[in-house]
Amino acid sequence: MAENVDETILENSCDAILISSTRITPTSTDEVRHLVLQIDEPAFRFATGQSIGVLVPGPHAFGNEYHHRRYSIANPTQRGNAQNIELELLVRRCFYLDEVSGERYPGIASNYLCDAKPGDKLKITGPFRSPFKIPADEQSNLLMIGTGTGIAPFRAFVRQIYDQHGGWKGNVRLFYGDRGGMNLLYLNEQQQDLGQYYDHQTFKAFSVLTDRPLSTAEEGLQDNLTANTEECSRLLREPNTYVYVAGQEKAAEVLDKVMAEAFGSSEAWQAQKQALIDQDRWAELLYH
Ligand SMILES: Cc1cc2nc3c(=O)[nH]c(=O)nc-3n(C[C@H](O)[C@H](O)[C@H](O)COP(=O)(O)OP(=O)(O)OC[C@H]3O[C@@H](n4cnc5c(N)ncnc54)[C@H](O)[C@@H]3O)c2cc1C
Repeated sequence: MAENVDETILENSCDAILISSTRITPTSTDEVRHLVLQIDEPAFRFATGQSIGVLVPGPHAFGNEYHHRRYSIANPTQRGNAQNIELELLVRRCFYLDEVSGERYPGIASNYLCDAKPGDKLKITGPFRSPFKIPADEQSNLLMIGTGTGIAPFRAFVRQIYDQHGGWKGNVRLFYGDRGGMNLLYLNEQQQDLGQYYDHQTFKAFSVLTDRPLSTAEEGLQDNLTANTEECSRLLREPNTYVYVAGQEKAAEVLDKVMAEAFGSSEAWQAQKQALIDQDRWAELLYH
């Protein structure tokens, strides 16, 4: 449901111009677009991993003036000069099924963004803080687990680790699932996204090695985690591992399912997860 937009959020909104919009997934699978926005507000600043909100003007079905949805900023720190800050977003065009009528409706904000044309003016809010923090100890392991457009905060996060720290001593691991396989959002030809980090000895991304057709991103993640259970569960047991989970909420359910088996029972896995949460070594950025 559309959320009510807080007055302070509205007061701090600003305009952005859409510079480019490129579909980065083939037509045979879900549409995900790479959008570049130029922020029309000289005071706007963001930190790596933050998200912005997009305000879609009404009228809307529930009488709200604006429909407000959040999107992760996929590029690290400032791009563009101080007057022309640029943001990159990865937006999946969403649809939902009305359980009563069985009809398929387009998601409001994602379709608004995916339909926008270069030159269009959009109203944005934020930036909002990121739950993903880089730990102080460079020996720690960083375990990223996610699906679909959850790759957006990881793109920014991994770039920050190597660009700002110049390297990392612990293991940096990405377990990622998407319907079309890893190459689409992760190593797409257009951006070469994280491909460049293969140069770093500490970084390893696990691709979805599957020959079965996937109907959801979560199936891709499940195949990926199942094929690499040993590596993933070993890291989860280590006392210096930090975990980052991003994407749709079902990604966390898949992780719970695969790790309950790896840890011998659901209770054993939940106890380990709780310990990670209690020790501030677990962060999530999950959405519907
Ligand atoms: C911090 C954060 C970062 C995010 N980052 C990204 C990102 O990088 N990329 C990305 O693509 N997405 C991201 N999202 C998700 C994004 O914010 C939106 O949730 C998503 O795009 C769907 O929004 P929408 O307006 O298109 O769909 P909506 O119109 O809001 O519909 C979405 C859901 O709302 C429910 N719903 C809405 N209206 C009805 C109705 N009339 N009847 C029944 N159910 C209804 C349905 O369950 C539906 O699945 C992020 C979310 C958060 C919180």
